[in-house]
Amino acid sequence: MKRIAVLGAGGFIGGHLVARLKKQGHYVLGVDLKYPEYESTTADSFLLADLRDPKVVADIFSETFDEVYQLAADMGGAGYIFTGDHDADIMYNSAQINMNVAETLKNSSTRVFYSSSACIYPEENQVDAQNPNCSEASAFPANPDSEYGWEKLFSERLFLSYARNYGLDIRIARFHNIFGVLGTYKGGKEKAPAAIARKVAEAQDGDEIEVWGSGSQTRSFLYIDECLEGMERLMSSDFKEPLNIGSAEMISINDLTKMVIAISGKSLSIKNVDGPIGVNGRCSDNRLIASVLNWQPNYPLQIGMEHLYSWVKSEL
Ligand code: NAD
Repeated sequence: MKRIAVLGAGGFIGGHLVARLKKQGHYVLGVDLKYPEYESTTADSFLLADLRDPKVVADIFSETFDEVYQLAADMGGAGYIFTGDHDADIMYNSAQINMNVAETLKNSSTRVFYSSSACIYPEENQVDAQNPNCSEASAFPANPDSEYGWEKLFSERLFLSYARNYGLDIRIARFHNIFGVLGTYKGGKEKAPAAIARKVAEAQDGDEIEVWGSGSQTRSFLYIDECLEGMERLMSSDFKEPLNIGSAEMISINDLTKMVIAISGKSLSIKNVDGPIGVNGRCSDNRLIASVLNWQPNYPLQIGMEHLYSWVKSEL
């Protein structure tokens, strides 16, 4: 049994992670500004606290933990991170949390997992929707298309610096669009799979589903269970450089919408409208994960979307 702290335990990935770690028999402390939205936490202890406060973080780590998962961040879907309206908050809030965690744990033997993002990859490598380059090595020269991505890149380098100078035991994942049940599906911070599932579930036969942009923009989406599996495998490995955790099954947003419409069995059409879309193309490059972990995600998108659709429908 390990002692594990999950920062951001009230969020989507954090909530699922706590449940998995508890099933494995670990002692888990969850920390967040809020409790999980759709299910009560299974953590042994749950602290409602603001991780931007260095004293709060110092207090938490006055006790010893074997592992810390640093998932807390100010984030959301395209409607939150690509409009520019929340840039200052995103950069300040998330950087402050990461600096507090790195500084507080610098002389400890705690293993720290940091959740970075595919949003760190340079914009110019993601112009061709059919042929994006998201290999780990392509991150530099850097040019993320959002301040959210710049903050993630800064914090990767922050944790790498603490590893270099203070021996901080870090693992860094670049998540690519994680989705699944118990995630935000309304309110402006939801991501494309949940937003589309909600729109389709609410629609009546003959309705049009609004999709942002031309719909030809591509992404890959990883189901939460495989994300957790990848996190555990990375944490158990010796690999200390940033690593993609994502699906290599690339799909256009219009095709994703058609998939959900087919799952629903409804007769609906797509209407492409103006909206924030981010880069034209993005897909996880899984060559490095396959070679260093001897494993890569392979759960079919179709099955994940079936789970998500039926959960969102039951929530409405
Ligand atoms: P989420 O927004 O559901 O969870 C983040 C949690 O952090 C929230 O519950 C939020 O309340 C908490 N938080 C924010 N500020 C805080 C503060 N000051 N003090 C304490 N808690 C605070 O996001 P998620 O989808 O679970 O993502 C988890 C991590 O993975 C984030 O760092 C995110 O940037 C990263 N990530 C996620 C995805 C994805 O597709 N879900 C993709 C790339 C990276």
